[in-house]
Formats: sequence, C-alpha cells, structure tokens
Amino acid sequence: MPAVTDVLLPASPDEAVAAFGDGSGVTVIGGGTIVMPDITAGRIRPARTLLLARAGLAGITHEGSTVTLGAMAPLQGLVDLPAPVGPCAGNVADLEIRLQATVGGNLCSGEGAEAPRGDLQGPLLAVGAQIRSAGSGGITTEPLEDFLGHRRGRLVLDLTYEEPAAGAFAAVDRPHTHAYTTLAVSAARTSDGTIRLAATGAGWWGIRLPSAEAAAADPAAAGAAALKDVKLHDDALASAWYREQALPVLVRRALARLEES
Ligand SMILES: Cc1cc2nc3c(=O)[nH]c(=O)nc-3n(C[C@H](O)[C@H](O)[C@H](O)COP(=O)(O)OP(=O)(O)OC[C@H]3O[C@@H](n4cnc5c(N)ncnc54)[C@H](O)[C@@H]3O)c2cc1C
Repeated sequence: MPAVTDVLLPASPDEAVAAFGDGSGVTVIGGGTIVMPDITAGRIRPARTLLLARAGLAGITHEGSTVTLGAMAPLQGLVDLPAPVGPCAGNVADLEIRLQATVGGNLCSGEGAEAPRGDLQGPLLAVGAQIRSAGSGGITTEPLEDFLGHRRGRLVLDLTYEEPAAGAFAAVDRPHTHAYTTLAVSAARTSDGTIRLAATGAGWWGIRLPSAEAAAADPAAAGAAALKDVKLHDDALASAWYREQALPVLVRRALARLEES
C-alpha cells in the first residue's frame, strides 16, 4: 500500500502555484493515467501529492487566432482543433484515456523505456507554442522547445500558440485502440510561409527537425535530412532500425498533407 502522507487539493491556479512552491518533494497528478499506475505498482512513493483536478486549469480558449490550452484540459477536448494539434490528440490511445489524460501530464510524462509518451509535444513544437510554468524562480513563459529539456521541477499552467495557416499530422498506424504512438511527425506552415516540423518517438521527448525544415521544399530530401536531427532508440514498440525506415516516410507524408491543406 503506497504511503501518501500529504495530499494538496488547490482550488485555484494561485493556490496550485503556492502549493507547488519550488517543486521539491511534490508529485503532481493531472489526469493520473501515468502517475496512478506508478503509485499502485509502488514505482513511486509520493510524500506530498498535488492534485490539480479542482485548480481551475482546464480551460481551452480562442481569442482571434490565439489558442490557449490549460494544463488540465483533457486531450479529448482538443480533438476538434485544426491540424496538427487536433489529429494528434485524437490519435492518443482511446476515448477512455483521452477523457482522463491532460495536456500538462502529456507534456511532462516521463521518457519511458517501454514506449514513447508525450505525443502532444510534437504538434505543439510545430506550432511554436509558448508554455507558462511555475517553480523555482516564479512563473515563467518560454518556448516549449526550451522547456522540454528542463521540465522536471516545473508546474505547467498553460500553453499558448497562434493557429498556423496550415497544419498536418502523420503517424505510424497500429491497429489497437490502447496502443501508444510509435513515431509521429507534425508539420505547420505559419502565416509568413515558414514551415516547422517536429517528431515524437524519435528521441526521449519531442524534437524539432531543423534539417528537414531547411529542405522542406523537396519532401524526399526533407525526409532523408530528418535522420540528421534525431537520436533513434529501441523500445517495446519498435527498433531504431524500423524508425529509421519510417521517419523519412512520415516526413514526406506530413509535407504532402501540408501542401494539400
Ligand atoms: C492504455 C494507454 C495508452 C496510452 N497511449 C498514449 C499515446 O498514444 N500517446 C501518449 O502520448 N500517451 C499515451 N498514454 C500515456 C498517458 O495517458 C498520456 O501521455 C496522458 O496525456 C498523460 O496525462 P495525465 O494527465 O494522465 O498525466 P499524469 O499521470 O497525471 O502525469 C504524468 C506526469 O506528468 C506530471 N504532471 C501532470 N500534470 C502536470 C502539470 N500540470 N505540471 C507538471 N507536471 C505534471 C506528473 O507528475 C507525472 O510525472 C497512454 C496511457 C495508457 C494507459
């Protein structure tokens, strides 16, 4: 039986920030689809647990072309957003998981050796999302790209991005509703014509594909160039070899879909 000694249940974002403090010794629970099995199995034994369910962080708002996603927004609430965010959210697990799983939990999920997690990192990198988080040093806003490498010890509050002029999402399909995503590529074209590409399942967390972006005018060259941007590894879903074959295909597919949209 896990020994949870202190459970914090903030009723507002300010209370959540105060309860989190500098994050030391605090285990955050968003939707709990990862944390709860870890606690039940004894893989983690939290001393202080911060439940965000009532913290008022679940909003999804649009102001003109600016979209803001609260950390506690359920993934199912994102599925109708334009590509690449909506199709990526809709590709996570099944309805049961998506109703429970949250944006913050997805972005902060640990880099498991068994399967890649954190699918939303890809599309949110592609659209250039800015993330607001709390922790040591107070509340900060920074590009998601900078945040991912130091996300431990931060409390995610929300993300903001400008809807791209066009977006696309391409993933390796697995015919199982409870499957994790093996590998995926997200693409976005901003209003000034810049193309941004990002992948998940091609490293321990989501990454931009700058070499592929530089070659985006030629999808075949972009697919090949993407391999320079990644550190592929084996896990329970696929080998590095398989991912090496699949990544160029997904880059080409995402760029073709971007062109069509
Ligand atoms: C059957 C199944 C299939 C799945 N398929 C996929 C898939 O295809 N793709 C995928 O990406 N994931 C998948 N997952 C993993 C998981 O459900 C999702 O990644 C989900 O979005 C995690 O969100 P959560 O709110 O449940 O996270 P939690 O379990 O609540 O938390 C996950 C981690 O993030 C931290 N955390 C949570 N919220 C915050 C916050 N606001 N600030 C800082 N840290 C926070 C927690 O402390 C923990 O370390 C699957 C899970 C299951 C059980």
